[in-house]
Amino acid sequence: MKLEKPDLCAPGAGHGTHGPRLVLKAGLCAACGQVHFPKTEFGCPRCGAAPDRVALHALDGAARLLAFATIHTRLSPLITPPCVVGEAEVAPGIVEEVMLVGDEMLYADGMALRAVGIPVARGDRQLMAIRFEPAEDAA
Ligand SMILES: [Zn+2]
Repeated sequence: MKLEKPDLCAPGAGHGTHGPRLVLKAGLCAACGQVHFPKTEFGCPRCGAAPDRVALHALDGAARLLAFATIHTRLSPLITPPCVVGEAEVAPGIVEEVMLVGDEMLYADGMALRAVGIPVARGDRQLMAIRFEPAEDAA
C-alpha cells in the first residue's frame, strides 16, 4: 500500500497495535546542527542553510502527547468525524498536530505515542496515512 504522505514518513521497523510502524522524515542541518520536521526541499528553515547542507534524519516515530481533543464536525473532506486530534512532540522542541487512532478514552496528556500506518480511503484508492497510537504496550 502506498503512503498518503511519502514526503513526511517512511515504513519503519516492526508493528504497532493498529498497523506497521512509521518513521518520520526530518532534516538534520549541518550548518546549525538542528533537526527540523518535515524536511523541506528548500533547506534549513531554522538558519537558512542550502538544501545540500541538510541530511535526511529519520525520527523513530516516538512522540509525547501534549494535548488532544475529539473533533465532531467535518472540518475537511479527508476527515471523518468523530476523530481525535492532538499535539505531539515528535522530537525535542518539535510539536506537530497529529491524528490519533481510536477513541479519546485511550489517551492522556503526557502519554507516549508512536506513529503507525493506517489504511484510509482516498477516492477509489487505499493509502497508508500517518496516525499515532498509545505506545504504552510497546515491548
Ligand atoms: Zn540550519
